[in-house]
Amino acid sequence: MPAAFLVTLDGQIHDAARPFFYVDDLTVLRGDGVFETALVRGGRVLKFDRHLARLADSARRLGLPEVQARQWEAAAAVATAAWGADEEGVLRLVLTRGRESVAVEEREPTALLYLSPVPEATLRRREAGVGAITLERGIAADIGARAPWLLLGAKTLSYAMNMAALRHAAERGAQDVIFLDTTGRVLEGPTSTVVVTSGRTLRTPPPDDGILDGTTMRALYRHAAERGYDCRIEPLAGGDLRASDGVWLVSSVALATRVHTLDGEPLRRPEGALDLRPLVDAALA
Ligand SMILES: *Cc1c(COP(=O)(O)O)cnc(C)c1O
Repeated sequence: MPAAFLVTLDGQIHDAARPFFYVDDLTVLRGDGVFETALVRGGRVLKFDRHLARLADSARRLGLPEVQARQWEAAAAVATAAWGADEEGVLRLVLTRGRESVAVEEREPTALLYLSPVPEATLRRREAGVGAITLERGIAADIGARAPWLLLGAKTLSYAMNMAALRHAAERGAQDVIFLDTTGRVLEGPTSTVVVTSGRTLRTPPPDDGILDGTTMRALYRHAAERGYDCRIEPLAGGDLRASDGVWLVSSVALATRVHTLDGEPLRRPEGALDLRPLVDAALA
């Protein structure tokens, strides 16, 4: 398995075992930055254009300098060439506000690509699915448009809350979380998009409703719609989860993970219920 490394936008490869950030980088001190997580498979970054578009959008929402797609593409080409085509890898794109001690007008963002192996636990999740719990997110789904400073549509490096929710789940014997809004509507997982299936219908909450616009969900929807599946973007109530044929968490590296148990109760799995895993694999091929 290749060892982890990072690539800077000048195309230089750096050993990931050596320190990299300045202590006064505003992402170190304040979590002030944005990121993307993409899957490398067969020596290429899957749906890289979608990740770059969302990185650019996240950067805009935080008032960071404009993302220069060509620089990131060139650096990603260096990274994937060094990684090879044999193993899957996790590619993180990281963009921070830069150093606090540098005057604002001279401040440069810190930008890097970090490539590392897919964790064993993630590979297991793809196969075995997860138990999940529902947790309150403490916001109303429609707050995103009224309160852009909450950065709900941006993939920011302030993920301590998301990680705390996962620890909260682990204490309850579950491996993942589905956030609900203050009215009981389904939002998303801490690192994934919720998709439920009923027959040949797929449903997911509207991406502008206080959640992140998932690139895996988008790729899946495009592929499935072309094959005659009814792909709907509409509000979901917490109760819709248990009534469906299947609850899935989709994201770039874990791909499609089935939720087999929700809040301690096994979910029903009718005969012939749709398996989203081959659909997501085909959508990404
Ligand atoms: C990254 C992420 C997702 C999944 O997005 P993909 O583009 O499919 O990987 C969903 N929700 C949150 C909060 C995330 O951070």
